[in-house]
Amino acid sequence: MTFASTSTPASAPGTSWAPAASASVAGGDGWRRRAACRHADPDLFFPPVGDSQTAAAAVAVCRGCPVIDACLRDALATGERHGIRGGLTGIERRKLLAARRRLVRRLAGQAPPARDGRGRWCSASVAAGAGTPVA
Ligand code: SF4
Repeated sequence: MTFASTSTPASAPGTSWAPAASASVAGGDGWRRRAACRHADPDLFFPPVGDSQTAAAAVAVCRGCPVIDACLRDALATGERHGIRGGLTGIERRKLLAARRRLVRRLAGQAPPARDGRGRWCSASVAAGAGTPVA
């Protein structure tokens, strides 16, 4: 298993696989050295789809991690879509980003994009630049 984009876990046993930091997180990558997952099994943080038990175990590690804030900010800033990062699953991070976009839009006085009957963004309003579809 690997982190997409900026994250490159080490595969050799006993080596650190903690998420790589991006320059977007203030303070550089020093937080990685304090990651609670540094020597954890990478598979724990990339559970198969539907394996909520493994995901919950990874989130439990995150909850005790001293750098959870930096990790989550990095994952959000880099658009990391896969795996458990900062105590959230990829789906949870995408929902958080979508909620942030809605808040920013609302604060800017922009109308929210329309949704279809199943709660998805209406393609017509997205095409008109009213919003970004949630994956
Ligand atoms: S918050 Fe979780 S994924 Fe991020 S460094 Fe800590 S233990 Fe690892």
